[in-house]
Amino acid sequence: MIRREDNIAWLYINGEERLCTRNLAKGGVYGERIIVYEGEEYRVWDPFRSKLAAIIIKGLKNMPIKRGTSVLYLGASTGTTVSHISDIVEDGIVFAVEPAVRVARELLEKVVKKRKNVIPIIEDARKALYHSIFGKVDVVYCDIAQPDQTEIALMNCKNYLKEEGYLMLVIKSRSIDVTKEPKDVINEEISKLRMFEISESINLEPFDKDHAMVIARYSSRSSKNIL
Ligand code: SAM
Repeated sequence: MIRREDNIAWLYINGEERLCTRNLAKGGVYGERIIVYEGEEYRVWDPFRSKLAAIIIKGLKNMPIKRGTSVLYLGASTGTTVSHISDIVEDGIVFAVEPAVRVARELLEKVVKKRKNVIPIIEDARKALYHSIFGKVDVVYCDIAQPDQTEIALMNCKNYLKEEGYLMLVIKSRSIDVTKEPKDVINEEISKLRMFEISESINLEPFDKDHAMVIARYSSRSSKNIL
């Protein structure tokens, strides 16, 4: 073990430092390597498969997702990243939104069945209304690769994000406007986050091309509207 912060750990594996999460359930989710260290299972977290792993490896300074955190995750897909967040939050909760039924079936089989802290929501995040969520969450995580992804994220924040909570927004510049420079698209999207203080903006290369993740704190002190 090199170091561990709550359920996120760095382990030495074959002479390399690897990012891992302490496994909340038994066994793997997507074929990831499992290491047993001092009697506990750790799942190796692949930055080429998960953008959250990529930003941690790239030096994220303030990680808003910790043990006990409640997360509204938009674009859960088959649950690769959701499963690692489930490890991290442990006694917190992850509301996993995914509208594609075939994909969601895999999410249910591989993740939800084995993890009590993941609540599936088979809905379009555009509606931004979910019957299974009461109250507000600490973090809205959005990775839906849609041209209007920022507007969708903001609608969800308006309805579900606590004051001083964090938005973690994956910006895929190519799915917003292929004709513009990725940097310009990312800056344009950031300018829409008027009610937020930008905490960090991290380019995902070399793990993902033309992607960035913006981490922003919802600030009620601003007099502007969220949308
Ligand atoms: N976040 C996932 C991970 O790291 O494991 C990968 C997400 S993948 C890039 C994008 C996902 O967003 C797809 O599964 C897609 O079905 C979903 N998606 C697209 N439009 C959506 C919408 N309007 N509401 C919710 N999810 C959406």
